[in-house]
Amino acid sequence: MVGLDDSVHAPGRACGLYVHIPFCESKCGYCDFYSVPVEQLDTEPLLRRIVRELRVRLDDNPRKVGTIFCGGGTPTILPLEELTRLFGEVSRAGPADQIVEFTVEANPGTIDDSKAGLLVGGGVTRVSMGAQSFIAGELATLERLHSPDDIAPSVATLRRNGVRQVSLDLIFGIPGQTLDTWSRSLDRAIELEPDHIACYGLTYEPGTRLSELRQQGRITPCDEQLEADMYLGAVDGLCEAGYGQYETSNFAKPGCKCRHNLNYWRNGSYIGVGPSAAGYVDGRRYKNIADIDAYIRMMDVQGHAEAETEVVDTQMLMTEMIMMQLRLVEGLSIESFRERTGVDPLAVFKDTLNRLVDLGFVTVSDTHIALTRQGRLISDAVIVELAATCGDRVDGPH
Ligand code: SF4
Repeated sequence: MVGLDDSVHAPGRACGLYVHIPFCESKCGYCDFYSVPVEQLDTEPLLRRIVRELRVRLDDNPRKVGTIFCGGGTPTILPLEELTRLFGEVSRAGPADQIVEFTVEANPGTIDDSKAGLLVGGGVTRVSMGAQSFIAGELATLERLHSPDDIAPSVATLRRNGVRQVSLDLIFGIPGQTLDTWSRSLDRAIELEPDHIACYGLTYEPGTRLSELRQQGRITPCDEQLEADMYLGAVDGLCEAGYGQYETSNFAKPGCKCRHNLNYWRNGSYIGVGPSAAGYVDGRRYKNIADIDAYIRMMDVQGHAEAETEVVDTQMLMTEMIMMQLRLVEGLSIESFRERTGVDPLAVFKDTLNRLVDLGFVTVSDTHIALTRQGRLISDAVIVELAATCGDRVDGPH
């Protein structure tokens, strides 16, 4: 078993592998991930290029892959033979005892026994399901295709076929949602005994249908105080039900944290494959083009589809470590920050930290700098303040 650690720059350490499949049945109203409705599209030409990129990235990769995450999009929308081919290729990432977690995203109502069996046979250990709400009207507002009644049978199908871990995503802050309907969704989710629950506040991303409706005054966003109450209600309710919070939006039963995402939040290395996928290996970051036709063309002409690349310098790394690791309940690792940036966070942030501690937003232990419950409610402001301090104190690439 390969341990994922904090060290981005140490060659030979484990990294994550992300594969982006950009197809969905239809576009949900809030979604700004790169995905297109699959209806008339032939998925095979894209899959062929994704497989090619996967082979090249794995061959070039000096590290062992410890976790795999296949998302999108809705990977399980691929025909069975294409999914089988994809999993066959992904299995080149490493032997089963090296891959500590293999997650696939899926939607309720889209998984039958044959697909669930194929996932397990392909090495999938974890399915992350976009339940979002157990209230029909809220799912309609989000423009989701499934109904509340699809969720429990889909979870049962996954369990019956031997998927080891199931995670459910829920959304709060939906227009029209109340504390009562949110608490009903949480209760229904807990009743299904998933291993992991993620609760995200609804955001209005530019270019999405919900954002457009909001601009036109056709929907009214949830009141900020109500949204904060929903969030704190979820933190308390899930904790009582045995789900420990380990990240701003993520809650897990013991032993069921998402290892792949922990690697992101700890600023670890990862390879990304597919349109719009990003990768971060040995201090270099890349992002593939978010367009299927352009991706296919670029793969054919130049053998890669990177649209952006950058070298992450010390200042960027400091900012990113603050942004990502303060999302974790454990907080920012002081030791890891020192090792990777050569900067002592307790010295650099001394004045800011003292003030934030006095205000009750941050705690500092021997090993970590972490947000308090109150600090978590204004996490963006705290992160911006600490990140601004980095800009003041560091210059030049390392
Ligand atoms: S199913 Fe997921 S990826 Fe697809 S459109 Fe909806 S939210 Fe976006």
